[in-house]
Parts: sequence; C-alpha cells; structure tokens
Amino acid sequence: MKESPSDAQIVSHKLMLRAGLVRQTAAGIYAWLPIGFRVLKKIEQIVREEQDRAGAIEMLMPTLQSADLWRQSGRYDAYGPEMLRIKDRHDREMLYGPTNEEMITDLFKEGAKSYRDLPRTLYHIQWKFRDEVRPRFGVMRGREFLMKDAYSFDLDEAGARLSYYKQLLAYLRTFQRMGIRAVPMKAASGPIGGDLSHEFIVLAPTGESEVFYDAAFEEFDWAQASLTYDDAAGLEALFNQVSSTYSATDETHDEARWAEVALDRQRQGRGIEVGHIFYFGTKYSASMGLKVSGPDGSIVAPEMGSYGVGVSRLVGAIIEASHDDNGIIWPEAVAPWKVGLVTMRGDDAASVAAADDIYGRLTAAGVEVLYDDRDERGGVKLGSMDLIGLPWQLIIGPRGLAQGLVELKSRGSGEKQELSIESALERLTA
Ligand code: ATP
Ligand code: MG
Repeated sequence: MKESPSDAQIVSHKLMLRAGLVRQTAAGIYAWLPIGFRVLKKIEQIVREEQDRAGAIEMLMPTLQSADLWRQSGRYDAYGPEMLRIKDRHDREMLYGPTNEEMITDLFKEGAKSYRDLPRTLYHIQWKFRDEVRPRFGVMRGREFLMKDAYSFDLDEAGARLSYYKQLLAYLRTFQRMGIRAVPMKAASGPIGGDLSHEFIVLAPTGESEVFYDAAFEEFDWAQASLTYDDAAGLEALFNQVSSTYSATDETHDEARWAEVALDRQRQGRGIEVGHIFYFGTKYSASMGLKVSGPDGSIVAPEMGSYGVGVSRLVGAIIEASHDDNGIIWPEAVAPWKVGLVTMRGDDAASVAAADDIYGRLTAAGVEVLYDDRDERGGVKLGSMDLIGLPWQLIIGPRGLAQGLVELKSRGSGEKQELSIESALERLTA
C-alpha cells in the first residue's frame, strides 16, 4: 500500500498492511499473503523445533469440535460468548475450538492405560477461534489465530512440575531464537493456586499489559545452551531462578516485593503476551474420566498442564519490537527472505544480467533471496525493501557494476558497503 492505512492503530498493524503481509477478510480474520505467510511459517518452525527438542510430540487436532466434549468438563456453558457455536445439518451442536484441553484429554483417554504411557507431552499448531469482544491491533488480537498448544500428562505432581520446567526452558529458547526478549512473568494462578503459571511478555510500548521486572532478565543467559532436558536438577534450578527474580504483570504486581528490587534494577513498561504456560493438576482428567493404573495397581487421574504460544500474534509482536520509521526490521531467524536483490536500473542489460547471475548463485547456495525485478524506479524499490525489512539488501547499479562493485546494506544498522560481487556473495553465504 502506498498510503498508511487509516484503520490501523498500531505500528505493526500499519506495517503489515503496507508491506502486504496480511489482508483482513472479516473483523479479526486475516488472509496471510505470500510475504506474511513465509514469516508465519518461520515462526511456526522455530516453535516446532524447540518443542521437539524438549521431547514434546507433534500431532494435529481438528478445528471443529463437538459440544458434547465440552459438556463433560463443564466448560460448554462456562465459556461464554467468546466461543463460536455452530450447528451442522443434523442439528448437532459443534464449536470452532478456542483451545483443546477437552479434546486432548479425550484422545489421551483412548490411548493411555497405565503409568507406562506417562509422562507424555503432545502438541499441535492449529488455528483457533475466539469471538473476542474487541478484535484489534491486527493479528495481535484476532478472532481466528494460530496457536501452538501443548498438553502434558504426568503421574504425580513432581512429574508435572518437571514437564512444566521443560516447557519453561523451551519457551526461553524459542523466543531467544526469534531474536526477541520475552520475559517470563508470574501469571494469576489457576484453580489450584501455586506458582505454576507464567506468561511470556515481549516489551513494546503498545502492549496491552503493564509489566515490571528485574534487570536480571536482560542480563542473564536464561536459555542456557548447556542445560539438557534430562537434567531434572538443572531444570528445577532454572525454574527457581526465574521464580526468585522479580517479574509481574499489573495483575500479579506486588508493591512490597517490588520495593525489594534495587531502584536501578527496576524495569517497567508495557508488554505483549506471546505465550502462557499453565499447570492445572487433574481438572480435566478428573472431570472427563481420564485414569491410568499406577505402578502399585492404584488408579490415578494424570496431572496435566497446558502451554500456549501465539504463533500469529508473534508476527505482530516481533514487528512492534523491531522496526523504524522506514519499515520492518526482521530478526534474521524469522525474516521471510535473508536478502533483497535490487537493480537500480531495470532497463540496464548489464545490471539485469549480473542480478540474474547473483540470484541464481545465492539461491543455489541455499540463501533465500527476494529479487525485485519490477519495472519501477530504483528509489521505489529501495523504499519497498526497507518497508519489507529483509536483513540484507544487495543493490546493483550501472556505475558500480562498471567497476565490478555492488552495494550491500544492512537493514538493521543501515550500514552500506561497496564490495566486489564475489566478496558480497561470500558474505551472504558465510
Ligand atoms: P489474552 O490475555 O491476550 O487474551 P489468553 O490468556 O486468552 O490471552 P491463552 O488462552 O493463554 O491466551 O492462549 C495462548 C496464547 O495465544 C496467548 O499467550 C497469546 O499469545 C495467543 N492468543 C490468545 N488470544 C489471542 C487472540 N485473540 N489473537 C491472537 N493471539 C491470541
Ligand atoms: Mg484471551
């Protein structure tokens, strides 16, 4: 879009519309256009890899669910107008899933019979629908949105805590890989109380919640590369460290504890919730009749937790955290392409030949390149590239090319360098 869209209130929504990442098709419902779709897939893939590393197993549950399932847990009536309720041609009551605790519990009941089937964490990455009162801020608070939701099943509370700690670490790693800082914050605790619920919050001035945290969350290496998922003591130590370092949203903020944090270490701002992890015990297993036989022959209802990541919300949240006046600045790990290739003069045969060759060589080397071969002025193309926000721009102009030189620009720092074609290629394929 040439003009800044007037119906968008926040910068990420504006930029996503202007750069052609999404288009709204109905209130809070978006089509993912090619550029936005690539980002969504990159984010999804990072989430998937970190879930897999943490030992969670991927599956796929449907979007449509039967109302009867939700009657078993009592949530069909409790959920309220956020749930989109549908009737099929036989008048059977259905719903578009806002989440999947009931369904996974029911499926698990079919498959797991004894303690030998535990512990197990299953996840899927699937569209959800919540008929939000006020869908706004584009994909950040949509009605249809993509979520990763994982569910853990354990024999006892100690096991459930360990499953929770694993997800905590997986989340720290997931967001770090995406190039953003998401601070875990104690969330209002669930039905069984305790300290086992955290929201992960990305700092951004347009965030919906007010947040408070200790500067340690900016300094310490929380994702600890050397920590492994079979190191129970290490995982517990990480959890204890997170728990004893102050962080809270406005809902859980505690003035007395905040006052104990040194003034120069207090960080306050606004934030966007990109993930939420939760231990809720036997709430669903007990109400839905999920039981397994324990090692001593007793019958137990597994202890459960659920772990959500807002995959589509993250696209907006990352832009909120990383942009400038000219457009988006993608962290390399989630960028739709690594390099934008631009010819300043699309009517210069030598430039086009050089660009075609560079495109072929980069692509052959596995580098993702967006080649702007539109019949547009060079300045227009550069403006588009800044807006789309790929990490690198490789710019080819007739004058430089005559001396064998091209320009390499870093979108993040704005730094430009004139290089030979060979050294530019080397830099981008390194
Ligand atoms: P919120 O308080 O923002 O409504 P929630 O507590 O309802 O979130 P969960 O049920 O924990 O959210 O869902 C897991 C994740 O899904 C959230 O952390 C968030 O990133 C994402 N999410 C929730 N609602 C939406 C929405 N309407 N649009 C986009 N993403 C959402
Ligand atoms: Mg909500």
